[in-house]
Amino acid sequence: MSDPCRQISELLRTQNSFLVLTHYRPDGDAVGSQLALAILLKDLGKQVEAWSDDAVPAKFRFLPHSEIIQLPPTTRKDFDVVIAIDTSTWQRVGTAAQRIGKKQHFINIDHHVSNEKFADINWIVPDAPASGQIVHDLVKLGGFKMTRDIAVCLFAAISTDTGSFSYANTTAESLRVAADLVENGVDVGKVCQHIYESYPFARLQLLQMALADITLASNNRVAYCWVTNEMYDDSGAQREDTEGLIDYARSIEGVDVAVLFEELPEPHKIRISLRSKHPKIDVNSIARHFGGGGHHEAAGARLTGEPREIEVKVLQAIDAAIREANL
Ligand code: AMP
Ligand code: MN
Ligand code: MN
Repeated sequence: MSDPCRQISELLRTQNSFLVLTHYRPDGDAVGSQLALAILLKDLGKQVEAWSDDAVPAKFRFLPHSEIIQLPPTTRKDFDVVIAIDTSTWQRVGTAAQRIGKKQHFINIDHHVSNEKFADINWIVPDAPASGQIVHDLVKLGGFKMTRDIAVCLFAAISTDTGSFSYANTTAESLRVAADLVENGVDVGKVCQHIYESYPFARLQLLQMALADITLASNNRVAYCWVTNEMYDDSGAQREDTEGLIDYARSIEGVDVAVLFEELPEPHKIRISLRSKHPKIDVNSIARHFGGGGHHEAAGARLTGEPREIEVKVLQAIDAAIREANL
């Protein structure tokens, strides 16, 4: 057992009040890992809260005890232990940071290679495809009880961050962990139907609009598309419906890098999502160049400026990375 795993296990057993946080615009790994930790703590008889600036995306509301996740309160609250999961920078927990009074212990559990190790105990495993896999290790190595509810949350976490166990980050270990979760009661078909086959019709309309203008660049090695505020208005889709749209750009034969540009509600704010299918192209370093971060093959950033200027800058940076990689 690694040191952080031992220290964290000890705190889970000995402390009483816990706050579990994750990043804003939560994905499946964020919600799944946050809930798994919260359920584990409840099972241990602890006081536990889980806060998020954004509501749990509709497709993850089937997860056991998803109602635990609440908006941060308006006044400050003290906790024995604050845990940030799947969060590479403290800033990415959003307003929750301002609602914490005293905290005796501060833990960060994460798998982003760009993690800033902002807590007192940082358990960062860049080789883990999902934070959910680290929580699985915590449950097993720490000697805690794996219940069906925890297993369902962890399966959702690992499934979403590995693209249903299809991305290059999927390892023998993640498949073994998945098998263990299934043995602990996960109904794979049912869980995956909730996550991948229960989209609102508006998401398909948003997808249609975004794909209408999908464009290739850098000798067809790059595919990019936009999701604009107008598309949200016209389709009636929610912000959370954008998750996964980039997979259509990355699915094109010969494309090494996919980019999704999303206009945010705040004027001149653009969110970029980057994906790499080529081992020699590290989109984390491209995202970091723009103040963001993530992983080698999936990263993101938020930029300020004119949409078209941002598009040019980002595509140029990708083009430079492709040239440097000498593919
Ligand atoms: P996304 O494209 O939003 O699905 O994000 C891909 C990966 O990059 C995820 O692991 C995110 O946590 C990470 N990421 C996205 N945006 C940022 C950002 N602004 N700063 C740091 N990491 C990010
Ligand atoms: Mn995440
Ligand atoms: Mn993750």
